[in-house]
Amino acid sequence: MSTEESIKFQNVKFSYGKHEIFDNLSFTVGRGQICGILGANGAGKTTAIQLLIGLIKPNEGSITVLGEKPGHSNLRRIGYMPQLNALYQELSVEENLNFFARMYGVADRQERNISLTKTLEVIGLSERRMDSVSELSGGMKQRVSLGVALVHSPDVLILDEPTVGLDPQLRALFWDHFTSLSRLGITILISSHTMDDANHCDRLMFVQEGKVVADGTPEELRLAVGTVESTLEDAFLYFVKASKGLV
Ligand code: ATP
Repeated sequence: MSTEESIKFQNVKFSYGKHEIFDNLSFTVGRGQICGILGANGAGKTTAIQLLIGLIKPNEGSITVLGEKPGHSNLRRIGYMPQLNALYQELSVEENLNFFARMYGVADRQERNISLTKTLEVIGLSERRMDSVSELSGGMKQRVSLGVALVHSPDVLILDEPTVGLDPQLRALFWDHFTSLSRLGITILISSHTMDDANHCDRLMFVQEGKVVADGTPEELRLAVGTVESTLEDAFLYFVKASKGLV
């Protein structure tokens, strides 16, 4: 893995009105790294992701993705999978992928067709390509959403709880795919609640009330709790308690 930074938050402050979410958030994610953000409901994971893709702007501090501020200029290089799918239900799987590929700037029809075929294979929906999204199961819709994030071959993937509602087999498939993408140098930032996801990440940040309370590899975080049998769940609970001065 390269030490080159793909994502950089520097002294970021952000509030929704008077509700402060981030006071002074700083972190970087290196190229090709799979970085997991884990935290309780309301910890600030989705807010951090929305700042990253430029949906909302920080009050102070700076955010860069691939060296640029989030915005139109780097949209083509970022793949985003939102928590709730943003698919057009009445359009087919292929029409959705085609639409988003065009929106992300894949203007050349031949390039788009090649990428569509490859994406459909990756998400395992080649045979359902003509079906409208409304006819698909929840897990299949998740796969189309992942396809939308991948269809323009981004260098950075930002995934907001992508494995919610997936069966174990599909979750394993998603993770195989994320791991192979990271080996190709694609950076992945993923938010999640599950320790199963956490175990697949190269690096984890535990977030509590807008603050990073622990940052390290899954093994480092487990070992920090002190026993060989410690799980990531133990580590998470330990660091959350420690951040409140309870251990
Ligand atoms: P979850 O795991 O439940 O998805 P999260 O870690 O992604 O949670 P966020 O969605 O980032 O958390 O929310 C962080 C805080 O910001 C919460 O207190 C939430 O109520 C608040 N918040 C989120 N969106 C808005 C908004 N549009 N307006 C006002 N407050 C908001």
